[in-house]
Amino acid sequence: MNKPIHELVVIGSGPGGYACAFRAADLGMSVTLIEKDANLGGVCLNRGCIPSKALLHVSDILNEARNASEIGVYFDAPKINIKKINSWKDDLVKNLSSGIEALAKRRKINIINGSAKFVSANEILVSTKENKQSIQFKKCVIATGSRSTKIPNIEVDGEFVLTSKDALKFKSVPEKMLIIGGGYIGLEMATFYKSIGSKIDVAEFLPNILSEMDKDLVQVLHKQLEKHFNIMLQTKVTSVVQENGMVSVVLEDSNGEKKKETYNKVLVCVGRKPNTDNLSIESTGIQITKKGFIEVNEECRTLIPNIFAIGDVTGNPMLAHRATHQGKVAAEVINGQKSSFSPNCIPYVIFTNPEIAWAGPSEDELKDEKIDYKMKSFPWQASGRALALGASFGKTKVLYSEKNQKILSVGIIGPNAGDLIGEAALAIEMNAFVEDIALTIHPHPTLTETFSNAAEMIEGTITDLYHPKKN
Ligand code: FAD
Repeated sequence: MNKPIHELVVIGSGPGGYACAFRAADLGMSVTLIEKDANLGGVCLNRGCIPSKALLHVSDILNEARNASEIGVYFDAPKINIKKINSWKDDLVKNLSSGIEALAKRRKINIINGSAKFVSANEILVSTKENKQSIQFKKCVIATGSRSTKIPNIEVDGEFVLTSKDALKFKSVPEKMLIIGGGYIGLEMATFYKSIGSKIDVAEFLPNILSEMDKDLVQVLHKQLEKHFNIMLQTKVTSVVQENGMVSVVLEDSNGEKKKETYNKVLVCVGRKPNTDNLSIESTGIQITKKGFIEVNEECRTLIPNIFAIGDVTGNPMLAHRATHQGKVAAEVINGQKSSFSPNCIPYVIFTNPEIAWAGPSEDELKDEKIDYKMKSFPWQASGRALALGASFGKTKVLYSEKNQKILSVGIIGPNAGDLIGEAALAIEMNAFVEDIALTIHPHPTLTETFSNAAEMIEGTITDLYHPKKN
């Protein structure tokens, strides 16, 4: 008997994979979704965005309770119950994951719990707990995501030397913790562990934390973070050895000087690598890049016409919202619609305390592309709302075209920057001009006004600062 040929197989149920499967099913396609983990939702839901933001909510509460005395409100020193925090976080994840499963069932998506490998450009082999099954397909979407990168010679044991996945399961409050890597995951983890009482060192090999972002914004963040933890720039970790229940680490600075430090835990956050090495992808004819990514075009097509790829496996920025949008585009293209992933910007948010967020190219990127731009930055000292929140250090920065005043990029540092950036992303996506933002009435007193204030500075119409138009 001939085996059925599956119309669409999606490998991986992260924010890319499940969005793709759901959109395709809604368009009337018959969809099989293959996931090797027991729970749907991928890294984002199970060991990334959601559990990390749940823990950062705990941090916000602890920090607010501790700082409240500065404005005359007194609480006893906050205490934490590790078991309760973990079960609250785990329930949140479980509920969302079963929600995805329920939505998949309503859409009659065939879910297979197993690990997929390609046999050819039309066939995969899925290893489940019970058996191995061969599945033939017409179209396939690879959405297998990414995992933590390891450092050669540093062994992660999950007990003393951790990845972000281990750190999110937090079993105790380490007295002293080293975080290797000053990227967004390392800094978010540092923010959480500091708030629960750990003494934190961050070691970053490069001259700056968050090296891809504009330095003027990062400097403000650096200054705020340094109040809470020790950031060692241009510092290389050359050895990590577990000794008598502690971790002994050798740190080397830019002058080659070495020092030995001892920590209770070391967390390795030095980036993520694509899950393309477990797929036998070469049997499809797809070539991966040197770093293991799959190259795709704006329709999310690989070089093999019936195989698409979305999300972290397709490169940077490795963000959940990018994966989701690509997933929908792939489903629509597969269904024969005209669709393309060609956004004007993909917003970034780093959920440290304070948050920092960005939409559009950085100044360095604009310079590299030889795009003439100008910049204005609205200082939050002039925002009544920011002052009430103790955030006078914040700023909202707008980069705009010198030629026609189109908004190119917006960067924000301060509380709720992650929520505020949504409006900037809309403005950039809709090709808004500075005047559009300046003339949009923003509610008072809110931090959203800081965006229109920056636009008014450019227009020369601001009255909240002394910044009259010179011509
Ligand atoms: P993933 O979410 O990685 O899912 C891939 C799925 O494929 C996994 O479930 C995996 O088990 C499965 N799979 C892999 N290989 C196979 C196989 N051979 N067969 C079957 N199944 C397979 N992004 C944000 O936008 N905002 C944030 O705040 C944020 N915070 C983060 C915090 C942390 C600690 C981490 C680690 C990441 C964070 N990210 C965040 C990044 C975000 O999680 C990823 O960009 C996103 O999950 C990528 O989605 P994806 O669909 O490409 O793949």
